[in-house]
Amino acid sequence: TAALQLNSVVKTYKSGACALKGIDLSVAPGDFFAMLGPNGAGKSTCIGIISSLVKKTSGQVSVFGHNIDTDLNAAKRYLGVVPQEFNFGQFEQVIDILATQAGYYGLPRTKAYDQAEKYLEQLGLWEKRNQQARTLSGGMKRRLMVARALVHEPKLLILDEPTAGVDIELRRSMWEYLTRLNEQGTTIILTTHYLEEAESLCRNIAILDKGTVVENTDMRSLLAKL
Ligand code: ADP
Ligand code: ADP
Repeated sequence: TAALQLNSVVKTYKSGACALKGIDLSVAPGDFFAMLGPNGAGKSTCIGIISSLVKKTSGQVSVFGHNIDTDLNAAKRYLGVVPQEFNFGQFEQVIDILATQAGYYGLPRTKAYDQAEKYLEQLGLWEKRNQQARTLSGGMKRRLMVARALVHEPKLLILDEPTAGVDIELRRSMWEYLTRLNEQGTTIILTTHYLEEAESLCRNIAILDKGTVVENTDMRSLLAKL
């Protein structure tokens, strides 16, 4: 089974904008996969649909064989998503944000806090654990979002432009962290505007433009063509 499978996924917004015009994609377990494309290509819409925040017009999506229409809870257990924009409660404490999220996946309270602590340490947020989210810097908020997507240890992690607006140092440490996570077996998909980000991290790539997949290949073949 593919880690992620999209078949003929179409999205037309109420405004009439056709954001996805029939997307077919398959990402293998263990892959580090890039979705590259200019603004408006449909990357965020795609992620919205996979995480069931955006309703698709038609087509099929499954995560490790679990169809999101018929088997959503199972699909969600396999999936962690890091959105582009911060969307946690500003006045919540950092550790509670993570423990609450772990709780959504049915972990009992003590286990939820253990998981929270594990990812606070991994993402370098241990010292900030009792602070309110609003006091964190932009880079720390970004790491908090990654931690939150990981507390239930999903097999597939999807990140929407994880290093947009992030300084070079954090970008590097984020790249290293994701590489390690992938080596330990987590399948990773990220979207990016930047070919060099995709190039240094990813094995396979799909290029989206105006709602269609214009290229779907391994990184080496793509670079050989350029
Ligand atoms: P990005 O490439 O960073 O996703 P976009 O400009 O494509 O930036 O969109 C930013 C957000 O604005 C999207 O997540 C979407 O919800 C909203 N948006 C974009 N275009 C429209 C539109 N035509 N009508 C309504 N909302 C839109
Ligand atoms: P990307 O993430 O690649 O920048 P998006 O998925 O944000 O692309 O946008 C794809 C297309 O859908 C764009 O034309 C955008 O304007 C449109 N769009 C995105 N979100 C909305 C929305 N909420 N309502 C209407 N149109 C939208």
